[in-house]
Amino acid sequence: MTHYSALSLVAKAFSGHRSWSRAWRDPVPKPAYDIVIVGGGGHGLATAYYLAKEHGLRNVAVIEKGWLGGGNTGRNTTIVRSNYMMPGNTMFYERSLRLWEQLSQDLNFNQMVSQRGQFNLCHSPASLDAARRRGNVMRANGIDAELFSREEVMRRLPYLDYSDDARFPIIGSLFQPRAGTVRHDAVAWGYARGADALGVDIIQQCEVTGFILERGAVVGVETSKGPIRAKKVGTAVSGHTGYLAAKVGLRLPLETHVLQAFVTEPLRPMIDSVISYAAAHFYISQSDKGDLVLGGDLDGYNTYAQRGGLPLVEHTFASAKALIPSISRLRLMRQWGGVMDMTMDGSPIICKSPVDGFYINGGWCYGGFKATPASGYCFAWTLAKDEPHPDNAEFTLDRFRNGYQIDEKGMGPTPNAH
Ligand SMILES: Cc1cc2nc3c(=O)[nH]c(=O)nc-3n(C[C@H](O)[C@H](O)[C@H](O)COP(=O)(O)OP(=O)(O)OC[C@H]3O[C@@H](n4cnc5c(N)ncnc54)[C@H](O)[C@@H]3O)c2cc1C
Repeated sequence: MTHYSALSLVAKAFSGHRSWSRAWRDPVPKPAYDIVIVGGGGHGLATAYYLAKEHGLRNVAVIEKGWLGGGNTGRNTTIVRSNYMMPGNTMFYERSLRLWEQLSQDLNFNQMVSQRGQFNLCHSPASLDAARRRGNVMRANGIDAELFSREEVMRRLPYLDYSDDARFPIIGSLFQPRAGTVRHDAVAWGYARGADALGVDIIQQCEVTGFILERGAVVGVETSKGPIRAKKVGTAVSGHTGYLAAKVGLRLPLETHVLQAFVTEPLRPMIDSVISYAAAHFYISQSDKGDLVLGGDLDGYNTYAQRGGLPLVEHTFASAKALIPSISRLRLMRQWGGVMDMTMDGSPIICKSPVDGFYINGGWCYGGFKATPASGYCFAWTLAKDEPHPDNAEFTLDRFRNGYQIDEKGMGPTPNAH
């Protein structure tokens, strides 16, 4: 891995930035690998990194049809947190947050981890009770959580609408101080550089179009650059999980939907935390550049198109204005969408599939960015050892058959989404 001194950085700046070495190689695919990971988003790249780092498996390739991080990893609103309460989820997401906390050092790549805290606003005695219960479960598991009164929220977030005719009254908030944001591109690039340095081949502009099956087992992938054999194939393709799994004959309990995000023109520091406004399906934070980054609920129809419809734009901004009236004076700069695979219980799938040689990482719904490090860590474990890590033991496909679901979605899309 190349390290640059301050002097050489200055020299490169004055020489027109022409002599940088590549952060990762651009290899020609080998005919065969021990493990092929489909999808060069954060999850696929993290999986490859931990396969090499934790399990010494370096004959590994990541196959990406576009460019690294061009899927949801580069399209999300970058919020990380571990305020989950269902057994199965709680310690998985807390593992992820702990990995985030040391990831810049681990990868020697600044991830811009900003633990600015997240508010989940409460609007009724029932929602305050639910927040109290969630906070207690978190604290019982060693996860940070505080319950704020209306007065404390008013002191910390003075720009929200607390008037008598506010659309939803704010009566308190659950707050996780260690939640925050992480720079999404840096996550893809940091894991890619780390995996490449350990010998992983990262192959971009190469689409997996099918699978090589022998005696009912997956033994490789068909790609736009030709067939590649592998002892094991893992998919980490976000909204395309169901589509690819169908090619090995699996029908997964997933629906693909689009989720949109928005940024406003930049302004001076105003919002120093992440705010979730559950009642109106809305959340917001402010980027280091100053723009407000915000989002809402899913577009309600199934699609693989990475763009959303106008009704959700209107809905999101009506909610924005209801919560922060002054936002109506800002201009919207950009809007985009990403496709995500929604499970019926809101929790992910990380497991060996019923088809030999085929492993699944998917079903991340609205909230897989925060899971990236733990997802990679646990998927690598599952691929290397052929058994789940204790933290992904419950993220099975079987749970949709036997009814032991991890129904964290029941809290509504926004408190636990994003
Ligand atoms: C607008 C929006 C906001 C979000 N906000 C948050 C948030 O604030 N916090 C949070 O935790 N989560 C958030 N999410 C969810 C989060 O972005 C995703 O769950 C997460 O990034 C998924 O990562 P991934 O690596 O699995 O998928 P991706 O980053 O989508 O990577 C999958 C890759 O697979 C590639 N691929 C697909 N098919 C093939 C194929 N056949 N062959 C080869 N390659 C293929 C794609 O090109 C893509 O690069 C948000 C999502 C969106 C869209």
